[in-house]
Amino acid sequence: MSAKLSLLLTLLVLLAPAGAGAYSINEGLSQGDGRVVTYYNTVSEHDWAVKRAVRAWNRSGAQIEFVPASEEDAELVIEGGAQGLSGHASTTTRSSGPQAGDAKITIPSPSGEREQRFSVALIAAHELGHVVGLNHEDSGCATMNSTITAGAPARCSQPPAGQWRCGLLEEDDIQGAVKLHGGAPRPPRRAYCPKVPPKAKAKPKPPPPPPQRPDPLSSVGAVRAISDAGRSRRVTVRWLNGASERIRQAVVARAPGRCPAKPDGLERRIVPADPGGEGRATFSLALVRSCYAVWSRDRSGRLSREAATAWYEPPAAPQPPTNLVASLALSHPLGDTGVSLRWHNAEGETVRSVLIARTKGSCPSRPPRRPRPWESPAAWPDAFQEHHDFGFYPGPDAKRYCYAVWSRDRFGRLSRPATAWPRPAEQDDELIVLAG
Ligand SMILES: [Zn+2]
Repeated sequence: MSAKLSLLLTLLVLLAPAGAGAYSINEGLSQGDGRVVTYYNTVSEHDWAVKRAVRAWNRSGAQIEFVPASEEDAELVIEGGAQGLSGHASTTTRSSGPQAGDAKITIPSPSGEREQRFSVALIAAHELGHVVGLNHEDSGCATMNSTITAGAPARCSQPPAGQWRCGLLEEDDIQGAVKLHGGAPRPPRRAYCPKVPPKAKAKPKPPPPPPQRPDPLSSVGAVRAISDAGRSRRVTVRWLNGASERIRQAVVARAPGRCPAKPDGLERRIVPADPGGEGRATFSLALVRSCYAVWSRDRSGRLSREAATAWYEPPAAPQPPTNLVASLALSHPLGDTGVSLRWHNAEGETVRSVLIARTKGSCPSRPPRRPRPWESPAAWPDAFQEHHDFGFYPGPDAKRYCYAVWSRDRFGRLSRPATAWPRPAEQDDELIVLAG
């Protein structure tokens, strides 16, 4: 406000008839004696706004001072609960002097929006004006205008975009307070301020993450998981330890179907580890595809962040024998007819035996449950094999039996069966005929 306009306003005040002028004071209050009002704000979300309003009055030049006090002692209690842009004030005036709780003002309930603080500061300044002893004044721009519109009292100009009326009090309000309590008006230096967040209320930044130091335990060399599945029932895991002198142990864990992120809860081995040396641990052979992970561990039990990993593919289930041929054969000195089987064993190094079954009229779908020795002969991977069905002399019915042969590996796993119906041995045709 320019000095010229200010002068004009003062002139108007002086010229105005009583009651129709600027500020309006509560005539019932004693005047010119200074005033201290203790207050307590129950709406902590609005602390910032209330403090701004209190400060505006305390710096106004009027001999009025709002001083914080405990809730029990405060003459003025500030509460929330007002709807929208509104507030309310009630005061009790005693000739014996103020008592705790004599004044109460209501300010808006917290909305949680940062923007609300600027309106609340304005409303609080207005309600404190009532506590000071001012009534509504609508003849010009004053904080004591009976209504507040958006960011300003109704008769005042709105703040520019991005700013708020941080002065909170107008000259008219201050003059009214000075008239009541004495002092010399000291209008706010600035009417508007940018809506920047107060520094004290800025959220503390989370501490920066510690700088990523290279993990001295992470340098486990390439891991291999190997097994001589044809002869051994173990998987050997081998690796090269990291070079750090802090390494004391290695932790090796196995997980089926996935590489584990932690060794917890898994089948694992903990072995001593020499920095830079070779490491080795053994596991029983698992027949499912599994990942082996190796962590370094220091003396305090801290694990390396990363594990080095390796997969081990278990040996495949065996394939059935190939080229199965069943031949009718003279098998007995007296001329009885038997059956001779020939086949080629599957290549898998784990194949150890075959199972043989026969049924009359159709091919067996299941291997013998408790195979007798002739039904489970030893087998050699990738080899031709011949087997005679000793002790079985079905005579002319022999060709009505179907034979089935399964490969079986050292883990007891079976292949699908190969099947064959007996056919006359090329060289023995006549014998069969004779025998018939
Ligand atoms: Zn009011």
